[in-house]
Amino acid sequence: MIYSANEKRYDTMKYRRSGRSGLKLPEISLGLWHNFGGVDCYETGRETVLTAFDSGICHFDLANNYGPPPGSAEITFGRILKENLLPYRDEIIISTKAGYGMWQGPYGDWGSRKYLFASLDASLKRTGLDYVDIFYHHRPDPETPIEETMTALADIVRSGKALYAGISNYNAEQTERAISVLRAIGVPCLIHQARYSMLDRNIENGLLDVLEKEGTGCICFSPLAQGLLSGRYLDGAIPEGSRASKDTFLKPASITPELLKKLNALNDIAVEGGRTLASLAILWILRDRRNTSVLLGASSSAQLIENKRAVEQTPLSVDELKRIENILQT
Ligand code: NDP
Repeated sequence: MIYSANEKRYDTMKYRRSGRSGLKLPEISLGLWHNFGGVDCYETGRETVLTAFDSGICHFDLANNYGPPPGSAEITFGRILKENLLPYRDEIIISTKAGYGMWQGPYGDWGSRKYLFASLDASLKRTGLDYVDIFYHHRPDPETPIEETMTALADIVRSGKALYAGISNYNAEQTERAISVLRAIGVPCLIHQARYSMLDRNIENGLLDVLEKEGTGCICFSPLAQGLLSGRYLDGAIPEGSRASKDTFLKPASITPELLKKLNALNDIAVEGGRTLASLAILWILRDRRNTSVLLGASSSAQLIENKRAVEQTPLSVDELKRIENILQT
């Protein structure tokens, strides 16, 4: 059946400007790290992406290595795009990244100009795109001069293969340096993609301050701590098919009795306010205007629909924030 997008897709989503740039992103974006690989069900992935787009989630995040196998999430997304979303390309922000190991030899990893140019070309082929909207350097490279990596990003933007440049997983000091190198060569750093959730607040120790000062946006990945901050594990069991059941990126051993106590206390606050734990976790990130977008994952369209409701709810009250803080500090 030919896909036709929901006419009301922009009615309930909200959009935030990325730093001091011209680009706005939806408060919720969808990442394709898990669930969109060659090993996953194409139809489920297609339904999830189209449900997102129908809900005003017009930003999709990829990386060269997403799968498994590496590269296959870009192939899946390219197919969804070609079969359904191409008429809407100008309404969509697509990002990809390079920075982790992608092919053998010295030119398939880290941050050289050689790697970044070759990787983006391969990403464009896999997705069938002429350009991506945002191209990220995925992690800092301790060996390549930052000038080389940032000049490569800037030249990629100038070539038209990406519209904006971003960085990911850089610490506050590395971020300041990267932004300043990019600025000196005339290409602003649009956004930083950083891990942030109620269970991982590292970016509060300096990175968010740097981004605010420099006018760079922040998009927060793993906002539900890979599912821990949803209702999935509250009783301590590991549901079949869940990320923890796969025991690779989310280890069952990380679900300790202390963590479960914390999650259940947070869930009590959520329930009292008529929310789900996932909504609470999303709204908690959105309480800070420096966070441009919450970059979720989803293994079904039902999860996405549930999570998207967060942006239709009232923001967290001062009292709720205080009670959450007390729990997080214990
Ligand atoms: P989340 O913390 O949002 O975790 C998503 C997972 O949580 C889902 O796949 C699902 O897992 C579970 N979940 C979500 N909603 C619900 C719900 N309502 N009920 C029950 N379970 C739920 O984010 P991810 O860790 O997936 O990361 C999101 C994106 O961030 C990635 O796709 C990627 O784009 C980006 N990212 C970037 C990184 C970087 O280095 N730049 C690193 C990591 C991620 P399941 O159903 O399988 O249990």
